[in-house]
Amino acid sequence: FVLNCTIKTTLLATLASPTTSSTSVIDEIRVLADTTSGRICTDADATALASTDFGGNVSVVGARPAAVFYPSCPADIAALLRASSASASPFPVSARGCGHSTRGQATAPGGVVVDMASLGRVADSSGRLAVSVDGRYIDAGGEQLWVDVLHATLVHGLTPRSWTDYLHLTVGGTLSNAGISGQAFRHGPQISNVHELDVVTGTGEMVTCSKEKHADLFDAALGGLGQFGIITRARIPLTLAPARVRWVRLLYANAAALTGDQERLISEHGALAGLMDYVEGSVLTDYQSLIASRPSLSSFFPDANDARVAALANEAGGVLYCLEGAAYYGGAGDTSAAHVDKALEVMLRELRYARGYTFVQDVSYVEFLDRVHGAELKLRAAGLWDVPHPWLILFLPRSRILDFAAGVFHGVLRHDRAMHGPVLVYPMNRGKWDGGMSAVFPGEEEVFYTVGILRSAVADGDLRHMEEQNSEITRFCENAGIPCTQYLPYYATQAEWAARHFGPGRWDRFVQRKRKYDPKAILSRGQRIFSYPS
Ligand code: FAD
Repeated sequence: FVLNCTIKTTLLATLASPTTSSTSVIDEIRVLADTTSGRICTDADATALASTDFGGNVSVVGARPAAVFYPSCPADIAALLRASSASASPFPVSARGCGHSTRGQATAPGGVVVDMASLGRVADSSGRLAVSVDGRYIDAGGEQLWVDVLHATLVHGLTPRSWTDYLHLTVGGTLSNAGISGQAFRHGPQISNVHELDVVTGTGEMVTCSKEKHADLFDAALGGLGQFGIITRARIPLTLAPARVRWVRLLYANAAALTGDQERLISEHGALAGLMDYVEGSVLTDYQSLIASRPSLSSFFPDANDARVAALANEAGGVLYCLEGAAYYGGAGDTSAAHVDKALEVMLRELRYARGYTFVQDVSYVEFLDRVHGAELKLRAAGLWDVPHPWLILFLPRSRILDFAAGVFHGVLRHDRAMHGPVLVYPMNRGKWDGGMSAVFPGEEEVFYTVGILRSAVADGDLRHMEEQNSEITRFCENAGIPCTQYLPYYATQAEWAARHFGPGRWDRFVQRKRKYDPKAILSRGQRIFSYPS
């Protein structure tokens, strides 16, 4: 436990003219000095950084913690949580992975933010990514980035099966949501691909849990929005790693053809079953700006095709759809390039895309999985990464995706100014999700869709305009009776969480688990689900 000079000065200054809450929090955590090797920082830079996130929405910047805690081991986190739990005024504690949340979910207003990355910065952190080749799994610290998990496993010719589109996210952060990408249709979300977790509960208890042992906590923590405990280790199953990927994009002139084809590709039956390892899709409501921004965003469609793509867009009434698929081959797996080419041939013959609009690349497995990082670097260089991100991501049942497309892609978003970000649309199989876990997903139909409207507010007025459009989309769904569930959800009040997100049965279970594992509602208050006293 180290208090450097700056921190001491700030601490003394804070104690001299404190707010009641920050004084008591700092007093409480000071007693940790003798019991942990973690470091506490109360200076303005640290607390300001811990209260911002990828969303960059000004409203969360006010949610400053009193302190940031830098643990050196999970026991430090347990000591912090025990201190809060034992206090007469329990203070909020939130794990912060990379702060890739968009609505202040990783903040702890007036409390303590746990900087998870510091677990991996200790002198000997090699055990934080430990591969068992015989057991075919990796033990990954909750603070580890998925990109580092990938590289650590590839050394052994192994890989996890289920990913997110972007790999510079923490294991604990994505497992607290679900972790979805184009592999989820076959393998389920990342939360369906975990053998075991180490969790520090809201009472400071360190528990190892799995489907066999403390299954209720295991299920609660997966998709649990950080409400039941801080995940300090996850055991993730591995499979043989491929070396390369045939990566395909096909253009469509209408939503029905796209979604029909996506559903055939993710089905376990039929001529197209099993051909693709990854299936996603997107909507180009603004193909002109996609073309204009190509240098920073996408080199997939070569320049020479601009006129042809524009002609197709005009023919389609301005809205284009794109199916994205990937087939893995080579490496330690047993799929050959010839096998994949055959699969592509079948796929290109069977699918109902606009003929002639086929774009294929051959890239390494790492290049494919880490594809968003390249775009990140370009956007950072252009000053377009650290801008507000009013993202809206919805899950909706298969039977309503075309109604949604008509009302939103051809309605709310149709004559919009530049989109500034992708709009993703892809289906997943419900059977690959586990209803016992905390993550909420549509339960009625076998297939459900995710629609991710992932925009950046780059110009004056964009943020307000995009937020208004998000509300308009939500209203449209309500009026049209389209049952939508938010992914990476955000609601302002507990009543909305209960009624609009969870629904009665799930909400009751969520509350019961909260009472059991975090009875004083210490954890992840930035989610705005629980407060104390309630
Ligand atoms: P944070 O934002 O730091 O934390 C998120 C929440 O989890 C907070 O409530 C926090 O308190 C809690 N938390 C963090 N760590 C832990 C832990 N160890 N134990 C318990 N609770 C914890 N998601 C997808 O599913 N698929 C995608 O393809 C995808 N792509 C993305 C692309 C970009 C560019 C970005 C910015 C995000 C993307 N996400 C995606 C969303 C991502 O999964 C969430 O932002 C997630 O929260 C992970 O971010 P993080 O590690 O920074 O967590």
